[in-house]
Amino acid sequence: MNMNQVIEFIKSDRLKEKPDLESLGFGKHFTDHMFILDYNKVQGWHSPRIVPFEPLVLSPSAMVFHYGQAIFEGLKAYKTNDGRTLLFRPDKNIERLNRSCERMCIPPIDPDLVLEAIVRLVEVERDWIPNKEGTSLYIRPFIIATEPYLGVRPASEYKFMIILSPVGAYYSGRQLVPVKIYVEDEYVRAVPGGVGHVKTSGNYAASLYAQKKAEELGYDQVLWLDGKENKYVEEVGSMNIFFKINGEVYTPKLNGSILSGITRDSVIQLVKDWGVPVHEERIAIEDIFNAYKNGELEEVFGTGTAAVISPVGELKWNEHKMLLNNSETGEFSKKLYETITNIQYGKAEDKFGWTKEV
Ligand SMILES: *Cc1c(COP(=O)(O)O)cnc(C)c1O
Repeated sequence: MNMNQVIEFIKSDRLKEKPDLESLGFGKHFTDHMFILDYNKVQGWHSPRIVPFEPLVLSPSAMVFHYGQAIFEGLKAYKTNDGRTLLFRPDKNIERLNRSCERMCIPPIDPDLVLEAIVRLVEVERDWIPNKEGTSLYIRPFIIATEPYLGVRPASEYKFMIILSPVGAYYSGRQLVPVKIYVEDEYVRAVPGGVGHVKTSGNYAASLYAQKKAEELGYDQVLWLDGKENKYVEEVGSMNIFFKINGEVYTPKLNGSILSGITRDSVIQLVKDWGVPVHEERIAIEDIFNAYKNGELEEVFGTGTAAVISPVGELKWNEHKMLLNNSETGEFSKKLYETITNIQYGKAEDKFGWTKEV
């Protein structure tokens, strides 16, 4: 791997019109350029370049289409009121990218090159970072197996790419909207020894059926239980989950089938810093229900890059319906949301050194 690879830049000669800031949504609009890095056995990762955003040409036999050797990451660039651009803990995403690579038999990438690629691409697309309250530029690095071959083994050719998408505020206004969650006790997302702890595309394909079922029943998202006993809480679709019980905070410990969220890690650090006890442990859904019956379950919230904090207003488990905090956003969830977003948008002191200016 060559640490001193120069990123080539081919500027697009047809710049797109920027979308309306009011109707950005999530992941619908893409910027003018993308980053590409190729891998083959002889050259390793090579030819880093920023080129116009355009469709790929791949053989129909590219291995990713058949055996799903693919991983991805997700992070955001934020515009501050004084015009700076901040990334939030990009080093953590890059570490996780390489952990995902290892599990999926994809060759690792020099972390310095990945960071440089993110920074350079965001610099090139500076004008695409929306600056309305709560908006941001979503950064999607991903790797796919491109070798044209139908045998089952790790591919010998890959593409690492980064695309960017301006995204709207998750919540309109300062009001956090609680979600209704269906505790899934039939289908599972991940199993011990499997790939639940890495960001591989197939985990999402595997989640769609239960998500669809939950939506048909009037719920927003699924809370997954463990894949072995269907007893212990794991995580929500693309969020980790936290419970506030009797003034203390509980979240499932990383057990190999739960994704290690960077927002999760940030919440744990913050809550500890506030002097509130945090327990990372195995949590039975039955114990959550008992805490609810005893009036001790104060708040439930999800954590992830997209929403930051997503308060849970209702949990449905079998015949039991748990209504949390009168289905309103709790004070603790709100305080976490404001503290983290204020750091991300450069409005509060970054005492943990989480932001990186581009
Ligand atoms: C990405 C992801 C999360 C959240 O991770 P963050 O780094 O906080 O965005 C949680 N669960 C799953 C399954 C994920 O893919």
